[in-house]
Amino acid sequence: METKQFKAESKRLLEMMIHSIYTHKEIFLRELISNASDAMDKIYYKALTDETITFDKDAYKITIQPNPKTRQLILRDTGIGMTKEELEENLGTIAKSGSLAFKAENESQDGHDIIGQFGVGFYSAFMVADTVTVVTKPFGSDVAYKWESHGVDGHTIEEVEKETVGTDITLHIKANEDEENYDEYLEPHRLRSIVKKYSDFIRYPIEMEETEQ
Ligand code: ADP
Ligand code: MG
Repeated sequence: METKQFKAESKRLLEMMIHSIYTHKEIFLRELISNASDAMDKIYYKALTDETITFDKDAYKITIQPNPKTRQLILRDTGIGMTKEELEENLGTIAKSGSLAFKAENESQDGHDIIGQFGVGFYSAFMVADTVTVVTKPFGSDVAYKWESHGVDGHTIEEVEKETVGTDITLHIKANEDEENYDEYLEPHRLRSIVKKYSDFIRYPIEMEETEQ
């Protein structure tokens, strides 16, 4: 008897992610903050075994910047970033977790604070955004890349300039529809309360940068 692998129906899976896995849209922020925290932890764990890497705790933080005018919500981290291959693998494949792989590779040092494991959280951004842009510069590299996706139609990757190591994720927040109002995800006080509700345990500072109106 022959056993065949299931083929991941990525588009259908993504549709399902966006429309039915999560009951509350607001959790997208928890997922993106967790990923940012994981990315900074990865530099921390690398520094434990590599004395050429210093981990200056003050350099690590998450910044949230909403801009109601442009409908952009930007999340920045100073974490480990992603190479082009990692962008392809981890953001190009649903249910692929670079963080789970990282934990497996670094089992000897307790990597237990790293949150990611299922490889689906990132896509929750599409519950509130019609376009997601990721600009990332990986640790130890001079080259940065931009990954962009409008959801089910796939994604593009191109080389761009980015000064510092880390990842900036820009969500273009959806326009309001008859029954759904997405404006709340551009309001600093609403975002602060979501952060408090789900991300209070994160060990890195989470700062709000309000855009001048
Ligand atoms: P999970 O966190 O469960 O692994 P996600 O869908 O949230 O799944 O993210 C998929 C993968 O993409 C992560 O495992 C990680 O390798 C990579 N990734 C996502 N966000 C970031 C980020 N801000 N910095 C670096 N890598 C990231
Ligand atoms: Mg995650």
